[in-house]
Amino acid sequence: QFQTEVSRLLDIVANALYSDRDVFLRELISNSSDACDRLRYAALTNDKIAKDIKEDYAIRLAVDTDSRTVKVIDNGIGMNKKELIENLGTIAHSGTSKIVEKISKAKGKDKEEETSAINLIGQFGVGFYSAFMVADKVEVLTKKAGDKKAWLWKSDGKGEYSIDEALKDSHGTEITLYIKDDASGYLLEDKLVQVVKKYSDHIDFPIYMGEEPSDDEEPINSASALWMRQKSEVTEEQYTEFYRQVSGGLSMDKPWMTLHWHAEGAIEYHNLIFIPGMKPFDLYDPKREHGIKLYVKRVYITDGVEGLVPPFLRFLKGVVDSQDLPLNISREMLQNNPVLSKISTALTRRVLDELRKKAENEPEEFKKFWELFGPVVKEGLYDAHQYRDSLNKVVRFYSTTSGDKLVSFDEYVDRMKEGQKHIYYISGPDIESLRNSPQLEGYKAKGIEVLFMTDTIDEFWLPIAFEHRQKTFKSVTKGTAEELSELDKDTKKDSKISEKVKKAKTSKAMEEVISKLKEILGDEIKDVVVSKRLTDSAVCLVADEKGVDMHMERILQKNQNYGELGKRILEINEKHPVIKKLKKMIKDDKNSEIIKDTAWLLLDQARIIEGDPLPNPTEFTKRMSRLMEKGLLAA
Ligand code: ADP
Repeated sequence: QFQTEVSRLLDIVANALYSDRDVFLRELISNSSDACDRLRYAALTNDKIAKDIKEDYAIRLAVDTDSRTVKVIDNGIGMNKKELIENLGTIAHSGTSKIVEKISKAKGKDKEEETSAINLIGQFGVGFYSAFMVADKVEVLTKKAGDKKAWLWKSDGKGEYSIDEALKDSHGTEITLYIKDDASGYLLEDKLVQVVKKYSDHIDFPIYMGEEPSDDEEPINSASALWMRQKSEVTEEQYTEFYRQVSGGLSMDKPWMTLHWHAEGAIEYHNLIFIPGMKPFDLYDPKREHGIKLYVKRVYITDGVEGLVPPFLRFLKGVVDSQDLPLNISREMLQNNPVLSKISTALTRRVLDELRKKAENEPEEFKKFWELFGPVVKEGLYDAHQYRDSLNKVVRFYSTTSGDKLVSFDEYVDRMKEGQKHIYYISGPDIESLRNSPQLEGYKAKGIEVLFMTDTIDEFWLPIAFEHRQKTFKSVTKGTAEELSELDKDTKKDSKISEKVKKAKTSKAMEEVISKLKEILGDEIKDVVVSKRLTDSAVCLVADEKGVDMHMERILQKNQNYGELGKRILEINEKHPVIKKLKKMIKDDKNSEIIKDTAWLLLDQARIIEGDPLPNPTEFTKRMSRLMEKGLLAA
């Protein structure tokens, strides 16, 4: 029996209405090519296997119109019984059910949704199942290199498969597809040749037509590693096809950027690297590896080597082929290999530089990338100090004044107000709610740009981001916003004098209000202060200058045993009519119930704007009703 997810997937694949069915051949050929790659590597490290290999690696296609079959044959590594069960009966990836769900929903609805759903299938390694798009029965005859026994796997893709012992002379896999009535086109050799040329031309092993070798046969494909060719010899279509092969995307998905270069000098390597145009479903899965395959002198070594690409570039796909590593290197030996770390540094710098150029020259294009992978790249600001300078030129933000354009640190600093010492930011879950934050009012009024920080990762790099071009980062929801009044003054001398005057004035008039509010609100708040940042709203909450930013606290509370949120400071706007009126009322009658209600409502209002839950909604409603009644009766 197939694993439930597989059954459901098979059902989807077999009945996919709009998809390009040609891709089944690409998937099977790509599996065969991987199997040859893996055997080539195994032979380097295992003499017993090396002795067993007789012929050159090749992939063969064979058509038989009588039995209505197409065969895909390889002399790669093959599979034993256990591997057959694991590989062709289950899906190893976690989170598969969710995606199957999503695909089921999209199926048959409209063309675009279905193709993008089918695309997802490829992402979690189920290319083999696409055989059921064109076949109503599939057989896999396979023998693992070095083993004596061969196995025959059979299924009609409807819930069950069988595995029996079988006879096969040499290692490798032979897949037989019993072609569906409505897919007869694939029984024409010409059609298969055309599909191979279109989708599999770049495969590094020769693909032949015919079950048995003949003397004068020519491969259908170019059979040379794409990454070793000159850029000028490769078409965009070939790059795209290769990208789909390395990334497992079935259709539609195109690379957002293709980087193909050959490094010579102290170390020599070829790179063909892609930045995907779609977000992988497991981008934030801690177990996720990057998608760069390591080759040594065109021989495939391994996938996802740690240290080849820093985690903040884990969305990259492609190939790195080194001339300077030994062929029989093991995965363990690779981890701290100096050649590998040199390649890694050079590669990372190159990718970051290309990203910088794109961000500067084609900001609209860059935005597409940034929306998909920006939060991942910003992880580098937190944990990759050696790339800090390059990263600073790549990272982008939206801001209070940037509209729908992204801003760089440099642009921000270039257009700072005279005398401005900090790069201001405000953090929260999304830009729309941040835009209306009362804490921004004073900055907006003075035309000071404030960056929006809406990704969780921002809360991690900001506290350790010391400066950019001597400007330190400062949250507008922390501390006193003293600098707002400083920026007002023309000269320093003036500022000192007027500050004193102002302080004296405000403190005297407002002191009573402050102490009353503190008395009523008690332990709920840390302090009450007259705000420097509010212009329109009556109140807002801020964190202590030295405390943790409020948004950070919320994130920590959600994800860990953080305990209670720290106490906030309530800022009041002395120019606001409500506060003015409050001032007067406190002077006249210190103990009125209205004053109490107003005090609590002001605090709750500030909490609501922050998106914090109200500790006591019932009380809030009662107070609100009492005041409404008064207001309505007076109206
Ligand atoms: P993917 O290739 O993306 O992992 P598939 O569903 O296409 O997903 O294949 C599942 C697994 O089955 C492969 O990873 C491989 O281990 C095994 N497999 C498929 N085809 C072959 C083949 N021709 N030779 C050896 N192993 C194969």
